[in-house]
Amino acid sequence: MTFPTAPENYSPTPDLLRGKTILVTGAGDGIGRAAALAYAAHGATVILLGRTESKLERVYDDIEASGGPKPALVALDLATATEDNIIHLASGLAQEFPHLDGLLHNASILGERRPIESASYASWLDVMQVNVNAQFLLTRYMLPLLQRAPTASIVFTSSGVGRTGKAYWGAYAVSKFATEGFMQVLASELENTSRVRVNSLNPGATNTAMRRTAYPGEQPTDNPAPEEIMASYLYLMGDDSCGVTGRAFNSR
Ligand code: NAP
Repeated sequence: MTFPTAPENYSPTPDLLRGKTILVTGAGDGIGRAAALAYAAHGATVILLGRTESKLERVYDDIEASGGPKPALVALDLATATEDNIIHLASGLAQEFPHLDGLLHNASILGERRPIESASYASWLDVMQVNVNAQFLLTRYMLPLLQRAPTASIVFTSSGVGRTGKAYWGAYAVSKFATEGFMQVLASELENTSRVRVNSLNPGATNTAMRRTAYPGEQPTDNPAPEEIMASYLYLMGDDSCGVTGRAFNSR
């Protein structure tokens, strides 16, 4: 099966995201960090959400040093965040921002990689909490702010093992199938009733901490750096993808 990508040689304008406010989860490291920097470099005010405050502060400083719009910082552990925490976050953001133009669901954990027959239930729950339940809560309570924007984009992060199941990928793979299903349900609900588009994106093998953990035998530099796969992240977040919804993208 082939999946769409951003248009070939897609070249976003420097001000693609000017005036937009975009929430990125897992913004302190890896692909989320690169996306936050790329969005800010194209004019967006980025809300940096993640669990390690010191990493978010470094991204914040990098954005400020590069002259991007002043970001916002939300230190929140999605493994323990409650519904009340997310409601509180949404109401705080609604006081600060008139609308939300983008939501990149990027934060995920890998969990155990082992056969189902010996998998631990505790690890299964941890993965579902971060990779699925937190996405639900954030989506559910950010939707009113997203619906206030002239156009808005929700991007879910998928994986190859969320499109074809693979032995030993356990809860992570199942969480990514759930992510694809969530994307389809939401896109279908919003398609004719709002200006919010909803898509999923599989970054593909990318040189990050998660990838190095999942594939310790790989030469890390054989995979692209997160900064090298940003065309599709920009395409899906900017107005060039208006009208595109309910689709499962690959970054390349
Ligand atoms: P990564 O390097 O491990 O980064 C994940 C980010 O999510 C980190 O900033 C991490 O925070 C944050 N995070 C994890 N648990 C969190 C929690 N409980 N609360 C808040 N933030 C949390 O992973 P990555 O490779 O960039 O992956 C990004 C996305 O791409 C994930 O959805 C992953 O499944 C997907 N993906 C990656 C690849 C790949 O080859 N890299 C391939 C397919 C799909 P800390 O920095 O504090 O740990």
